[in-house]
Amino acid sequence: ITKIGVLTSGGDSPGMNAAIRAVVRTGIYHGMEVYGINRGYSGMVDGDIHRLEGRSVANIIQRGGTFLKTSRCAEFFTKEGRKTAYDNLKKHGIEGLVIIGGDGSFRGAQIFSNEYDIPCIGLPGTIDKDIAGTDFTIGFDTAVNTAVEAIDKIRDTADAHDRLFIIEVMGRDAGYIALHSGISTGAEHILIPEKKTSVEDLIASLKEKERRKKLVNMIVVAEGEDFGGADELAKHIKKEMPHQELRVCILGHIQRGGSPSCFDRVIASRMGYHAVECLMEERFNVFIGIVNNKMHYTPLDEAVKKKQRISEEWLKIVKILAT
Ligand code: ADP
Repeated sequence: ITKIGVLTSGGDSPGMNAAIRAVVRTGIYHGMEVYGINRGYSGMVDGDIHRLEGRSVANIIQRGGTFLKTSRCAEFFTKEGRKTAYDNLKKHGIEGLVIIGGDGSFRGAQIFSNEYDIPCIGLPGTIDKDIAGTDFTIGFDTAVNTAVEAIDKIRDTADAHDRLFIIEVMGRDAGYIALHSGISTGAEHILIPEKKTSVEDLIASLKEKERRKKLVNMIVVAEGEDFGGADELAKHIKKEMPHQELRVCILGHIQRGGSPSCFDRVIASRMGYHAVECLMEERFNVFIGIVNNKMHYTPLDEAVKKKQRISEEWLKIVKILAT
């Protein structure tokens, strides 16, 4: 393989730039031509493909977002769209692809690599950490630290007024941001999509804590939680406990942005380097994870079937530490 393409797809995450940089520089080190594909699969379909040099990725390791830009691409769901994408890659002589994105992007890569003779390597770039086969994803550490910083600030004001805050963090179908940020800020309750909590149980617990005069300042809720998010939950609590001073804070997109943490830059660099090594060694159509601090390769065919699971032990820790 002498010509490869790199793209970022789906939701952006801090550290994607560091991963692109590692792919470009490792590829060039091995004498390859490296092409940047803009706006994810859309750039493949539209032919928005440009040669990158080592210098093209200077001064981006510390920047959030992705300088190649990203998108969701409807055409790539269709056979015709993928055919056009393939033809465009062929025009540039591209023989291998590195896709930095989430599980949706991996699904696209899996389908594409089964249809065409262009091997794909996935790198997990998502703040949600919702991919099985890796202990970490690029962007999770930064996102969760952003959430922690924000929640600490909310606690100061919550405590000053004896108010209860319901804080909604990102994680449509994964509760990792909620779990990690909730544990590390001492939230009294953490609600995640993986573990159903009934509103009645939650309110009973709040009332019990009220009887004990235990101050409850913070409930952290993942956006994908069953109640329909923080606003809905607030309505339920307000109805049952009308005297409770209550505020809602939805952290939103600040969790996606910002300069990547040292940790995310390092794993992005390691994964980007290994993506090119995989193409060199013909270890094709896998996504690269890190498990127990070692590189871990999961076939794309398997990657799209599995989901991360949250262990019961974590949930027990939350319960014990918040009483
Ligand atoms: P993420 O990668 O962050 O999970 P998405 O789920 O939006 O984000 O997926 C990103 C893109 O990957 C989609 O917009 C689409 O172009 C492509 N993709 C996702 N699923 C498929 C699929 N089943 N077939 C073809 N392409 C897909």
